[in-house]
Amino acid sequence: MPVPLLDLRAQHARIRDNVVSAMLQVVEDQAFILGKPVVEFEKEIAALSHTRFAIGCANGTDALLLALRALDIGAGHEVITTPFTFFATAGTIHNSGARPVFADIEPDTFSLNPAAAAAAVTSRTRAVMPVDLFGQIAPLERYHEAMPRVPLIEDAAQSIGARRSFDGEWTMAGERATIGTFSFFPSKNLGGYGDGGMIVTQDEKLATRLRRLRTHGAVKSYVHEEVGYNSRLDAIQAAVLSAKLPFLAEWSAARRAHAAVYDAAFADLSGIQTPAIDAANESIYNQYTIRTERRDALQAHLTSKGIGTAIYYPIPLHLQQCFAYLGYKAGAFPESERASKEVLSLPVYPELTSVQQDEVIEAVRSFFR
Ligand SMILES: *Cc1c(COP(=O)(O)O)cnc(C)c1O
Repeated sequence: MPVPLLDLRAQHARIRDNVVSAMLQVVEDQAFILGKPVVEFEKEIAALSHTRFAIGCANGTDALLLALRALDIGAGHEVITTPFTFFATAGTIHNSGARPVFADIEPDTFSLNPAAAAAAVTSRTRAVMPVDLFGQIAPLERYHEAMPRVPLIEDAAQSIGARRSFDGEWTMAGERATIGTFSFFPSKNLGGYGDGGMIVTQDEKLATRLRRLRTHGAVKSYVHEEVGYNSRLDAIQAAVLSAKLPFLAEWSAARRAHAAVYDAAFADLSGIQTPAIDAANESIYNQYTIRTERRDALQAHLTSKGIGTAIYYPIPLHLQQCFAYLGYKAGAFPESERASKEVLSLPVYPELTSVQQDEVIEAVRSFFR
């Protein structure tokens, strides 16, 4: 039996009644843009994230772009980020008019290296944009210590509901940043039935500005103090996401349980490194990403056995053709480059059965035997 990397149909089968009735309600109301379902979902995400404000928008990419714009970042400015992430992280910096400045990652957690990020600060730096990659929060307090005056945009697209302990207390993804961003792309832990995004902040002025920017910069209808965007969350998506949210904690716990099973099953294999979770973190395992020097051969082996895998991410962003103008060369960020050659994500979705997981484990073990 093939094992897919992700099985959204299995998830839908379980929540079908909740989700379909929530969608139908929006259809009956015929109010599709923003409105009550969005306001309610924003409140739920603010509560989950321990933030004062949450602002729904069209997708996780726009959430980053709106965050940059709300901080008045644009031409002549620099934003420090990681080259080992999904494209949107750096793409939005470029699209804001600012210059993406890359710094290398920590080899174990894949998080932006705080010392490397601090070393990249110049008089033009306006923000640092770490990524909570694969489900665990980046070491936010360390960026803050290293560059206390630099605003922090936390790209938490892959990490909604992830926790990190500070001084013995749990804090949530998005809680400690100047602005935090989430994506509801269907493959994220909380996925919509289409695109969706959210921005969270503790700062009322930023929240007001973000709300304005998502509706063409209008303070009220047809009155524009600045040029913004059309980046709103659909009511149907908000209704779906509110219906799914009560399951999120359980789904993330199921992912953690699967991760623990893999960790134990692979512990004696010298050829692979299982994911390193920072001791302060509780990951939501958006991905279970192993490392091995024989990555391509392992992936081919698993494919031949019908097991779905993926490489996140095969080309670090400083080596993408579109960023050639930034002038980075191969070798600039050795940890990111090595990670891109060694990582492989295995199926870890909540509905993965133990029979399926045993198949994955057996296939991986047979490769290294
Ligand atoms: C998914 C993702 C985004 C973009 O989200 P979309 O909703 O697809 O626009 C941004 N950053 C990271 C790290 C992501 O994984």
